[in-house]
Amino acid sequence: MAKYSIGILQGDDIGLEVVPVAVKVLQEAVDRYPGVKIDWLDLPIGYPSYLECGETMPQRTLDALYDLDGWFLGPIGHMAYPRDDPKAMNPHPFLRREFDLVSNIRPTKSFSSLPCLHQSVDLVIIRENNEGFQPDRNMFRGTAEYMPTPDLAMSVRVITRRNSEFAARTAFELARQRNSLKKVTAIHKNTVFKLGCGLFIDTCQEVAKEYPDIEFETMVVDTFAMALVMRPQKYDVVVSTNMFGDILTDEAAGLVGGLGMAPGLCVGPRYVMAQATHGSAPDIAGRHIANPYAMIMSGQMMLSWLGNKKGDGEAIQAARDIELGVGKVLDELAAVTPDLGGKASTGEMGEAVCAAMRNLPPGAGSIY
Ligand code: ATP
Repeated sequence: MAKYSIGILQGDDIGLEVVPVAVKVLQEAVDRYPGVKIDWLDLPIGYPSYLECGETMPQRTLDALYDLDGWFLGPIGHMAYPRDDPKAMNPHPFLRREFDLVSNIRPTKSFSSLPCLHQSVDLVIIRENNEGFQPDRNMFRGTAEYMPTPDLAMSVRVITRRNSEFAARTAFELARQRNSLKKVTAIHKNTVFKLGCGLFIDTCQEVAKEYPDIEFETMVVDTFAMALVMRPQKYDVVVSTNMFGDILTDEAAGLVGGLGMAPGLCVGPRYVMAQATHGSAPDIAGRHIANPYAMIMSGQMMLSWLGNKKGDGEAIQAARDIELGVGKVLDELAAVTPDLGGKASTGEMGEAVCAAMRNLPPGAGSIY
């Protein structure tokens, strides 16, 4: 029996709606396989936690996470947190850094039933997560943005060989696993950032030598931004530094139906965190119309990742069943949320995925 301990950090706003649905779908999937068990642990975070105990990132949550295999992190509505209280910090960059979650894996997949800008899109962008231009996480102490005078602002970008190598390795391993083009595209601007992007690309090139079965190419970020809009079908796995990746993943989500269709997984050498690309969407919170796809598929990726790490075929199959269940709901458009043109609530769409999985014979989804 393989056991996984997984935390549930709901986050803010629509997090309270999409995370419970994703948890339910994961539980339904593993219930189909007697050899897999998940022990769930609810942990406070975000604004609800601030109201309850005065902190958005309580120590007891942090202490508990160290003992878990992975966790769901719901979207964080940090823009609404009190600005002047250090106990109201934005937890997500902190968690990515604290748990060394170096690679952020963000897939983009089109469904022919949905109005997408492009069809037959199936790519994954791996974004380095903890350095680059992000000043809230790229320093040990202090911040990488400062104003020496009232009229001069400076931002420091950080690129290390260690994190570039980890992100590149994540990309090549994924390219090997996927039944796709077997290609990695590394994004840079080393025409300008000769040292920073230079180090990133040199490191990717070194890693590429270990994967002769995978095609490797490099592209300048502005050229790639245009190519992504015009011919996204040409790409399989893309690896990038932090800020470029952040922008490109939203652009990619726009190609296939928007942020509700953009799952994500943060991985490091030891921990894994399921975190969708979208924010907390305060404009639609409380109405139960948020699309749960991104959060469900973030959980699916987490289960698959853990199953691969432990060599647990049943967990991998359970993850594949989720993918098939979600695919069926989207193909038939039977119960989808308003952003996808439907009338279903967040919970009804989750229920439809569970029902679709119940109709699959166990193991039906195995591609391994
Ligand atoms: P952040 O900067 O925190 O990532 P953001 O500025 O990208 O947040 P979001 O909160 O992600 O903004 O919302 C952007 C738009 O996408 C909003 O109109 C929101 O309603 C919509 N949106 C985001 N997530 C979903 C979802 N799961 N389902 C439906 N619509 C969503």
